[in-house]
Amino acid sequence: MSIDFAARLQTVLARIHDAERRFQRPVNSVRLLAVSKTHPANAIAALATAGQSCFGENYLQEALDKMAELRALELEWHFIGPIQTNKTRGIAEHFAWAHSVDRVKTAERLNAQRPATLPPLNICLEINIDQEPSKHGFDESEVAHVARRVAALPRLRLRGLMAIPAPASDFDGQRQPFARLRELRDRLNAEGLALDTLSMGMSDDLEAAIAEGATLVRIGTALFGHRA
Ligand SMILES: *Cc1c(COP(=O)(O)O)cnc(C)c1O
Repeated sequence: MSIDFAARLQTVLARIHDAERRFQRPVNSVRLLAVSKTHPANAIAALATAGQSCFGENYLQEALDKMAELRALELEWHFIGPIQTNKTRGIAEHFAWAHSVDRVKTAERLNAQRPATLPPLNICLEINIDQEPSKHGFDESEVAHVARRVAALPRLRLRGLMAIPAPASDFDGQRQPFARLRELRDRLNAEGLALDTLSMGMSDDLEAAIAEGATLVRIGTALFGHRA
């Protein structure tokens, strides 16, 4: 049985546009990032044919293999997985965005390794918004200092904040961490930064994220199906 990727894409875009309307967000203020980790290049190609151009990957080698297979297509690649030190060069050389920067050292390496032939690498700082001990991400208390340091790196362009909140069972519970991320972005902008991106919301909570100001939602399962 073949999957109807065009229909799935239309369903997800309709969810995004319905949420924009329902929560008084401007039309087309939320971008869709299709998260293709563990899914094959032909699934990405099918979604690209249906009109999707931005794809998110979590594992560097898997991503590089798919990029090579898909090099004939004009796609924009976003790195969204944990960034180990030995992976920064591959990310700096092959991606347009990195959403999961959770150490200053990682940002400094990406800055040093970004090729001069490419535009600056777009960066989101990952925030541990629920203060879970096991989670990646900066604490809210340190992010102002970190953001100023990262914003000063010339081969990077600091765009905003990213978070993966702990799952919540109801809509109001889903909204709370997203609201905290939005308030954090607003405080940083009031202090002189110019962050235009809130990377938040996945298949199960994209409406709550849009209600709280997401500008980019990262959607895997609702587009590609469950991961093996
Ligand atoms: C896998 C992943 C997603 C997509 O999650 P779904 O629930 O499948 O939509 C989004 N963001 C990150 C960082 C991920 O690792």
